[in-house]
Amino acid sequence: MNKKTAEQLKQVLLKEKENILKELDSFANKNSAHENDYDAQFPDYGDDEDENASEVADFESDLYLEKTLEKSLEKINEALEAIEKGSYGKCIECGKTIPEERLLAFPTANKCMDCKRKTL
Ligand SMILES: [Zn+2]
Repeated sequence: MNKKTAEQLKQVLLKEKENILKELDSFANKNSAHENDYDAQFPDYGDDEDENASEVADFESDLYLEKTLEKSLEKINEALEAIEKGSYGKCIECGKTIPEERLLAFPTANKCMDCKRKTL
């Protein structure tokens, strides 16, 4: 992979990371003990029964969103780390080069299509 493409993908990843962090910040507290770990805040709408029910429902969807975002964040950080190390764009299973078109479509891809298919 040439430097220009790597730099382009790095920018995409950094932008994505920024968006995820912003989204996490909007409903979760950063866990200061662990980097990139967030804890969804329990919402407080009021003390009525229906308010309590919405609090629980929203908290559950927040927890789910939190996990999903954290997982994406982890993949982005791994990809950024791989770019720094120069191992980016190689399949973590077989070591083959991942086609650039695939990386441009999925910048966090760390497996080639063959290996990806095997794990499905
Ligand atoms: Zn592979």
